[in-house]
Amino acid sequence: MSEYKKLSASEISAKVKSRELKAVDIAREAIELAKTDGKKLNAFITICEEKALAQAEAIDKKLENGDAQGDLLGVPVALKDNIIYQDYETTCGSHILDKFKPPYDSTCAKNLINAGAVIIGKTNLDEFAMGSSNENSYYGPVKNPINHKLVPGGSSGGSTAVVAEKIVPIAFGSETGGSVRQPASFCGVLGLKPTYGAISRYGLVAFGSSLDQISPLARNSEDIALAYKVASGRDQMDSTSVAFEHPDYLKELNSSRKFKIGIPKEYFVDGLSDEIEKSVRDVIIFLEKNGHSFTQISLPMTDKAIAVYYIISSAEASANLARFDGVKYGLREGKDKDLLGMYGDTRSAGFGDEVKRRIMLGTYVLSSGYYDAYYIKASKVRELMVRDFEKVFESVDLIISPTTPTTAFKIGEKIDDPLAMYLSDIFTAPANLSGIPAVSLPLGKSSDNLPIGVQFMAPHFSELSLFQISKQLESHNN
Ligand code: GLN
Repeated sequence: MSEYKKLSASEISAKVKSRELKAVDIAREAIELAKTDGKKLNAFITICEEKALAQAEAIDKKLENGDAQGDLLGVPVALKDNIIYQDYETTCGSHILDKFKPPYDSTCAKNLINAGAVIIGKTNLDEFAMGSSNENSYYGPVKNPINHKLVPGGSSGGSTAVVAEKIVPIAFGSETGGSVRQPASFCGVLGLKPTYGAISRYGLVAFGSSLDQISPLARNSEDIALAYKVASGRDQMDSTSVAFEHPDYLKELNSSRKFKIGIPKEYFVDGLSDEIEKSVRDVIIFLEKNGHSFTQISLPMTDKAIAVYYIISSAEASANLARFDGVKYGLREGKDKDLLGMYGDTRSAGFGDEVKRRIMLGTYVLSSGYYDAYYIKASKVRELMVRDFEKVFESVDLIISPTTPTTAFKIGEKIDDPLAMYLSDIFTAPANLSGIPAVSLPLGKSSDNLPIGVQFMAPHFSELSLFQISKQLESHNN
């Protein structure tokens, strides 16, 4: 294995800063891996070679002159292809955005570049981030690096696969209902869904705006903390983004703080694999031995999460995706027809089946006569879920649970059964609906050697607690 693959983001940054390594050599190596290993996994839609090499050269030059700053100096990163990066196509894994090149950068991309990161590519995803297996991409499915017959999870399957395959130490995906934590658990890496509002959504192509959050993936606690720090903060281009102070993560991470942790009884139910349950129980035993305390808690609205999530996210998606009509972006079909004919032909040809299903579902739940029965009711239940979490967090610091009910499944296994696919989100969607941060940590293996993810949830803006518990557990699985 090459030296580069063994390095974490913080190690690369330190070595580039001390000029032991050149940013341009690191970038070349990452791009080469993207073209070889990344291709085998179908993980990239675009490789941003030209700009990446120019960025890396500029960093080396600045270092020569002694004025380069940043937490991710020379660190290669990848962005899910629904996060905008100027001059390169943003496809969202959809045919409808064919050849669309955005004329501006997302705030996330800007923040990364300001921290010295080198964006090497845009990763494959389920079309418009709708899916749990990465099979809904116009560009074909991504493969799980551990076993190419399995899905990597979704919708951020490409970003997750390139971190697991060690092509980059950090990548960014997006979460609406679990799209980073679920693939993180399927591929054996860390995935963080930050507090809603922590990372600007400016330049993230909208799916469900009240849920969407750009979310980092990494292979260790320090890197996930650094990625979060660099990407987050108040941005005047996103009115839902929030200003807050970051602690010194690298120092605070080593705290031996003892947590009060809740075990929600509704997360250990029929349908949860025995091996996953056992992994979570093992983590509980390990943490108890190390002085953390546990109590049983109840989150009574948990069994409503899938229904509420699919009503609200589809309602918002049907509105957000109305803009793709052949006028402003990408594909245009039915050029010889009148306006409505052109809209219809473009959307019929441009969207895949799953996106069409969500648009129809969303349009239905928002339609007159059904709006109160579905959308308003789901919004009320969502509020009850928020209150459930608030109540529980009065007495515990963290909640522990499985991330997913099963380990990675076979490509093709669930594609014709949307309901079975939707059930993969059962343990992740509650954090999105209530806006709290949650992390999936790779803390177990099944008998067939597949990774198992354990999830921790925390109160709003308590990411530090998630990083600290992650750091304390890092020794457990090794
Ligand atoms: N699997 C969920 C869905 O298909 C979550 C997607 C996401 O978080 N972007 O909607």
